[in-house]
Amino acid sequence: MLLITCPVTRTDELVADRRIRSVVNHPSHVAVHVECPQCGAVHVYRTGRRLEQARTRLADRSAAQAAVAAAAATARAARVGVPA
Ligand SMILES: [Zn+2]
Repeated sequence: MLLITCPVTRTDELVADRRIRSVVNHPSHVAVHVECPQCGAVHVYRTGRRLEQARTRLADRSAAQAAVAAAAATARAARVGVPA
């Protein structure tokens, strides 16, 4: 059994193993294709330690870029005398 969250209805669904359509092994993660009992579509769920590391790296990079952009906006506002 799997517990999934349907991305269409946003409900949690308990899914039997027979509804797993395929399991694909990737270098960074495993992709599990599951037929959803709620909406009937096939949803893909990815899991794996390296996937989490990749997501963390991306989130850190995005946060750093947002901080740089905010600092640039503040500096620009200070130059032109407009409150940020
Ligand atoms: Zn669904």
